[in-house]
This record gives sequence, structure tokens and C-alpha cells, in this order.
Amino acid sequence: MTEDATRIVAGTVGDAVLTVHKLRVLDERAGKRRAVCGAGKPNDETDEWARAVNCPACLDIETD
Ligand SMILES: [Zn+2]
Repeated sequence: MTEDATRIVAGTVGDAVLTVHKLRVLDERAGKRRAVCGAGKPNDETDEWARAVNCPACLDIETD
């Protein structure tokens, strides 16, 4: 198996604050993250939350 260096965090995309996605950290320094389910646009604002992921599409995607 190959080592995946990217970190996965929980968080929201854009203004949809009720849906918590798995966010793949693309650029730690720039704070660039992208929902693993593809929600939002590439440059959408994301916020890291200390909350459980509740997006069904994200929960279906294995990130371990
Ligand atoms: Zn999602």
C-alpha cells in the first residue's frame, strides 16, 4: 500500500454549515482543503470543525 501523505479533517464547505464533510488537506500552509465527496467548488472557503462527519457521500468514501 502507498502512504497517503494528505491529512483528512472534518469540516464544512462554503455557506453550507450544516453538512460536515471529510476534507482532504491539499495545502496545510494556505489552508486549502477539499471535500472528498467533491462538494463545493475548488476555491470554496472551508472551515475545519471538531464535529462528526455527517455527509453521507463522504462517509461512503474510505479515507483510511
Ligand atoms: Zn461530503
